[in-house]
Amino acid sequence: KNLVIAIDGYSSCGKSTLAKALAKKLGFIYIDSGAMYRAVTLYFLRNNINVGDDAQVADALQHIELNFHSRDYESHITLNGEEVSDEIRLMPVSENVSEVSAHKLVRHEMVKQQQRMGKSKNIVMDGRDIGTTVFPDAPVKFFMTADPKIRAERRFKELESKGNNTTTLEEVFENLAHRDYADTTRKESPLVRADDAIILDNTDLTQQEQLDFALEKVNP
Ligand code: C5P
Repeated sequence: KNLVIAIDGYSSCGKSTLAKALAKKLGFIYIDSGAMYRAVTLYFLRNNINVGDDAQVADALQHIELNFHSRDYESHITLNGEEVSDEIRLMPVSENVSEVSAHKLVRHEMVKQQQRMGKSKNIVMDGRDIGTTVFPDAPVKFFMTADPKIRAERRFKELESKGNNTTTLEEVFENLAHRDYADTTRKESPLVRADDAIILDNTDLTQQEQLDFALEKVNP
């Protein structure tokens, strides 16, 4: 039987870095569920979809096709055939993704697609509801946290390294705080630790230390 490793946690606390490292080490496929919500959000922004209008949302979802292409364990996502991996990381998407991802119909569609991806393959999937809703039976689950200031600094540096010079550290901090609040308080599968998820606070851990910790739990 195939194996699913679920990694959930707050925004920008290193979920994808750990997930990629684990996938690489174990030869699993890495799936970034947040990229799917981000790509849907980009489509909504481009097409002026009103999230308050269920009929519009339902119709839009029918016109969205998402695909992952993995290169060197970096995940790339396409939206209706267009590579959008960089654009979905920019502020307009970050500022709207929590609202879009709180929509019931959006979540149902994404969860359905995510469950399909984990049916027959070994995967590491990161997100907010992977261990609780998408794969409640996953044998290994992690719940990641880190100091909010450290998280904002990490995300800011990441944006900077990609050539972003319009967003300030304060704006990044505010955006993370906003998304954490929205993600933990929404009605539809809010961000919460699964009872059987292993807590990993990486405020003071190197990437190697996190990987070693996680591998130890996967293969005790
Ligand atoms: O992981 P990332 O920060 O890129 O996710 C962007 C947003 O997508 C989150 O703030 C959250 O609102 C939403 N999301 C979600 N469920 C997931 C993954 C992401 O609601 N499984």
